[in-house]
Amino acid sequence: MKPTFTILASDPATGARAGVLDLGRVKVETPVLMPVGTYGAVKALSPEDVESTGTKLILANTYHLFLRPGHKLISALGGLHRFMGWDGGLLTDSGGFQVFSLAKLRKITEDGVSFRSHVDGSEQFLSPEAAMEAQRAFGSDIAMVLDECPPPDADRAYIEKSMRLTTRWAGRCLEAMAGSDQGCFGIVQGGFHENLRLAHLDEIASMPFDGLALGGLSVGEDRGITGRIVESVAPRMPEDRPRYLMGVGMPEDLVRYSGHGVDMFDCVVPTRNARNGQVFTSAGRLNVRNASLAEDGGPLDPACGCAACRRFSRAYVRHVFMSNEILAHRLLTLHNLAYFRDLMRRVRGAIIGGRYGAFVREFTEGPEARGQVWRTELKSR
Ligand SMILES: [Zn+2]
Repeated sequence: MKPTFTILASDPATGARAGVLDLGRVKVETPVLMPVGTYGAVKALSPEDVESTGTKLILANTYHLFLRPGHKLISALGGLHRFMGWDGGLLTDSGGFQVFSLAKLRKITEDGVSFRSHVDGSEQFLSPEAAMEAQRAFGSDIAMVLDECPPPDADRAYIEKSMRLTTRWAGRCLEAMAGSDQGCFGIVQGGFHENLRLAHLDEIASMPFDGLALGGLSVGEDRGITGRIVESVAPRMPEDRPRYLMGVGMPEDLVRYSGHGVDMFDCVVPTRNARNGQVFTSAGRLNVRNASLAEDGGPLDPACGCAACRRFSRAYVRHVFMSNEILAHRLLTLHNLAYFRDLMRRVRGAIIGGRYGAFVREFTEGPEARGQVWRTELKSR
């Protein structure tokens, strides 16, 4: 079914919204952070593990699945949900961002973009129609349009030209999705220029998309720039449709940008940082490499009820991490997903309770918005 979006509460002081995105197979509470399952797997976790963290919606990458194993095989085997054994919600990106960040020898024309696969060097072509054909074959609940992602240092003239191409491609994507009951989201570009962003928003918002995304942010620019763009553009995105900020997911950013009315986020931070040993806790961030944890019998986060925190000590998790045991990646990823899910629950609870402003102040002044914590700080809680 086409996704439907209902806003349950909004905070008059900040514009933060709490809602439900109904995907038919699953109802997703918003604001939501989508963990990333690039190749159709959230790294280190089984679908049951992902479910155990309360996660209802994940993102998979069209570019990677298009190159390997290919959308035709996935379709022949019953679609992406069945292929990866995941009953929850799936959003697939269009491949645009990866084509422009990973692939080699790109050539952009009105038709689409030809490129060499970063996997085997083969020549590939992605058009708006091909990107939508792949996502229809996957059967994802939400498909994203193919957009051009200009390099962050592109000049204004290039970005204007690129925006217009992205608008024309957005129209072709909608046509290619005609008759489908999958959701389809448009993407707003415009670089770091506020007025270009707003102009492009007008164009994309006038099209019958089920939701709108802000793309091309969090690509290495100063965080002040990201903040300025989100602050001015997000509140002007259509109120009745979900607003999705792509590629953003540090805890302080999720709290801040939810306050500008963003409903959806995706980020590799919870999973990638877990594999690097970084743990997000209610007392701040922790690196399990830290020698001060070697004899620590407490859980990673005393406030967390995840499978890793219920059963194992920091000393054990550190030990398996330092011993390169695969289990370490699983435990740390499980915990980080549970932490981020809990954070979004708290964000949502504060919006529904009409105390979002106070929540943001407490969060920003508290330990979670700060960097590394040490054992003593954890113990003092
Ligand atoms: Zn935990």
